[in-house]
Amino acid sequence: MRPHHFVVPLILSLVLLRRTVTSRCPQLDRMRHSGDNPTSMARATQNPIQAVRGMNDILPSDIGRWRWLEGTFRTAFERAGFHEVRTPIVEPTNLFVRAVGETTDVVEKEMYAFERHDEGLTIRPEGTAGAARAYIEHSIYAKEPISRWYYIGPMFRGERPAKGRYRQFYQAGAEIFGDHGPGCDAELIDLLHGVLTALGLVNVDVIINSLGGAETRARFKEELVKYLEPHRERLSTDSQRRLASNPLRILDSKAPQDREISAGAPTLHEFLTAEDQAHFNELRQMLDRLGTPYRVDPHLVRGLDYYTRTLFEVKAAADKLGAGDTVLGGGRYDGLVEDLGGPKTPAIGFAAGLERLLIATESNQASDPLDVYIAALGNAAQREGLVLARDLRAAGFSCEVDTRGTSIKSQLRRSEGLAARAAIILGDAELAEKVYAVKNLAAHTQSKVAAVDVVAHLSQTLRAAT
Ligand code: ATP
Ligand code: MG
Repeated sequence: MRPHHFVVPLILSLVLLRRTVTSRCPQLDRMRHSGDNPTSMARATQNPIQAVRGMNDILPSDIGRWRWLEGTFRTAFERAGFHEVRTPIVEPTNLFVRAVGETTDVVEKEMYAFERHDEGLTIRPEGTAGAARAYIEHSIYAKEPISRWYYIGPMFRGERPAKGRYRQFYQAGAEIFGDHGPGCDAELIDLLHGVLTALGLVNVDVIINSLGGAETRARFKEELVKYLEPHRERLSTDSQRRLASNPLRILDSKAPQDREISAGAPTLHEFLTAEDQAHFNELRQMLDRLGTPYRVDPHLVRGLDYYTRTLFEVKAAADKLGAGDTVLGGGRYDGLVEDLGGPKTPAIGFAAGLERLLIATESNQASDPLDVYIAALGNAAQREGLVLARDLRAAGFSCEVDTRGTSIKSQLRRSEGLAARAAIILGDAELAEKVYAVKNLAAHTQSKVAAVDVVAHLSQTLRAAT
């Protein structure tokens, strides 16, 4: 037998084996074929992997500001009787197509949609659709007459990244299901104004409008198309297409030529029914009574299809945010729950962009300093250090113990770097005497404290200092 008689089948079977193994993971297959072998990639330190463009890390050094912002929202909304809801990050694509609207920017251009085992899935671009789906799926309407929910979490849109515009961004939002009156609209707008004030934002621009109900919108749509039709040639390509599919969207277009034409368009206000009008007037009177600043802009429309009647938006800090200065938006969506297969249920909600709020506020919230740092020299000291750390944590202190086994100098340098309030030094002498050296780093004092008294000693000195 000549060598190639067995070499060729052997190579062939190896290739086939490799195929069957790799085909279980198409991503890995693709990486291998493109030369990006995962093992060699991990080794290629000159060319480290970077985050997806428009998706940002929030490092521990930034977390203080995030917690402060999220905490301000939580406190304000929980005080107003809202309860947190957490819905999945991934939902059926159809949910967003039906809820947000097939011809909106979000659904047409921005969704991270994919197929998995013949199921169309989307990484959520917004929170209202998922909340409404959960409200219906769990028959919440049958359990309570009104539901007040809030959420905080990441949203995903395939947009062109810019300052204040990302592909993964965070929203804090709320939904009220089961209340049709303008009272909760006014309350929500006032609550939000209060949150923005608590965040230190001044001169926020609260803009409100009414889109009317379904009847109003149908009549308005007809008149709008009549007005736009003669300008068709000058409209942007997107807007020309939307003239047939969704003419209202044209009023929300950012293209300069569309804006110019829209400026002369009829406004929804001229078409409001007496009931729509009364709802809007009552909202205004309530805001007046609350003293919440606002202005009415009859041209305000927003990017999602589900809105009815009350619509609002808040702009802030244009000096820092530029054109993307809308920090939050919301409105009524009285038809959405029914459109998604639930019973007729009035509802209103909003969503605020947390990155934009952080840019707008530029607050400098340091993270909490460490209470106690334990410097331990040698294994025996580390053993006692670990026990002491556990006791201190149980007593309510934050405490870190140095288990690196480095010099006392580098351990104390670390305690300064952490801005610890106290440091405890544990070495052979301290263990033998059962007396520890306790440094109060803020007061620059040092004392010797019996091991059994350390927790009590720190309870006195540190608690007294705060
Ligand atoms: P814009 O007109 O700026 O694109 P939008 O109408 O798409 O905003 P909504 O869907 O109403 O925004 O979302 C509410 C808020 O979420 C916005 O006011 C904004 O603060 C924030 N937001 C929306 N998209 C992004 C994004 N890509 N990156 C960061 N924040 C965003
Ligand atoms: Mg957008």
